[in-house]
Amino acid sequence: MAEKTILINDLRAPALAVPAAPEAPTGLLLDARGRPLHDLRISVTDRCNFRCVYCMPKEVFDKDYAYLPHSALLSFEEIARVARLFVAHGVEKLRLTGGEPLLRKDLERLVAMLRALPTPSGRPLDLTLTTNGSLLARKARALKDAGLDRVTVSLDALDDTVFRRMNDVDFAVSDVLGGIEAAHAAGLGPIKVNMVVKAGTNDGQILPMARHFKGTPFILRFIEYMDVGASNGWNMDEVVPSSEVVRRISAELPLAPVGANYAGETAERWRYLDGGGEIGVISSVTHAFCHDCTRLRLSTEGKLYTCLFATRGHDLRALLRTGRSDLEISGAIAQLWRARTDSYSETRTISTAGLERGARKVEMSYIGG
Ligand code: SAM
Ligand code: SF4
Ligand code: SF4
Repeated sequence: MAEKTILINDLRAPALAVPAAPEAPTGLLLDARGRPLHDLRISVTDRCNFRCVYCMPKEVFDKDYAYLPHSALLSFEEIARVARLFVAHGVEKLRLTGGEPLLRKDLERLVAMLRALPTPSGRPLDLTLTTNGSLLARKARALKDAGLDRVTVSLDALDDTVFRRMNDVDFAVSDVLGGIEAAHAAGLGPIKVNMVVKAGTNDGQILPMARHFKGTPFILRFIEYMDVGASNGWNMDEVVPSSEVVRRISAELPLAPVGANYAGETAERWRYLDGGGEIGVISSVTHAFCHDCTRLRLSTEGKLYTCLFATRGHDLRALLRTGRSDLEISGAIAQLWRARTDSYSETRTISTAGLERGARKVEMSYIGG
């Protein structure tokens, strides 16, 4: 069982270094391995109304858990300023996440601010959000009206008992299914439904989920349970490899592989041979995709993480709140990305993953998925 002394938030992040010569963005930033910066994930809250066993287990995230105070959070104005600089550097996709992003008050105001950002190419930004779906029925219309393009909904089981066990707050699956329908009706599509598969917990739901979403407009994706953070007590035995997911589905509902939509797509696509649509599998553990990882993460309190498995963030908020200019901050971002060499999933071993429980990888609920 996880200890409460685990460091959840990253208290050691140094201020992001500002280079001596400020520099204006050119619309293209490459890291040390030649990977462009395309995708920014913005965590808007560290709070959540679920206690998914693999992400925010109750024993750690209990009533005594110290969430960030409101003053520590980036304001919408700060987020929009930073996002504008990232977009000028070539970011084309913004994903809002958390914690549960729909818990952040007036989120649609932030969505509208991000929608208004100009891009160097003139092409519209891809503006999306990942949610547990619990508040979607209530918020879908306002999010769409504010300019959100689409949503990804996390759903780990179709069976109500299994789902309640996974979210560990007794939340009914029918409410999430209602949220997905409401998002669809509001035009927030194409909607992806992500299922994290944990062996012995919800892997019996792989086929019911496949059957349910086959032939619908919703694209179901299976995600391998990852060793993110330090509080979930990850163990390789609990990972169901994507190859096994595909094998199990294909035995009943035959599948064939489909080519990627674009380079760097994390999900491997499979289509039903009878024309019933497609599924995706995200093999974060068994098939690393670091070689074309173009993602950067911004935590709720303004720290940048160049990898989901980073043990250290870079404090951007310190620059925002000490009056640094746009050019200085742009230069600092460029310097950080150019030095990036991350490839955790390619080099994951037993010594860096399962046994690192007491070490200080940052939590998923803190920087978002
Ligand atoms: N609360 C929102 C949600 O659940 O969609 C957004 C934040 S959540 C951290 C983002 C995604 O991370 C979810 O799809 C969740 O299932 C996934 N996730 C969390 N912990 C994970 C783990 N250990 N392995 C794989 N995916 C994980
Ligand atoms: Fe909350 Fe999402 Fe983590 Fe579940 S996966 S506890 S819904 S942040
Ligand atoms: Fe990207 Fe890090 Fe994941 Fe590799 S391990 S794909 S570098 S976030």
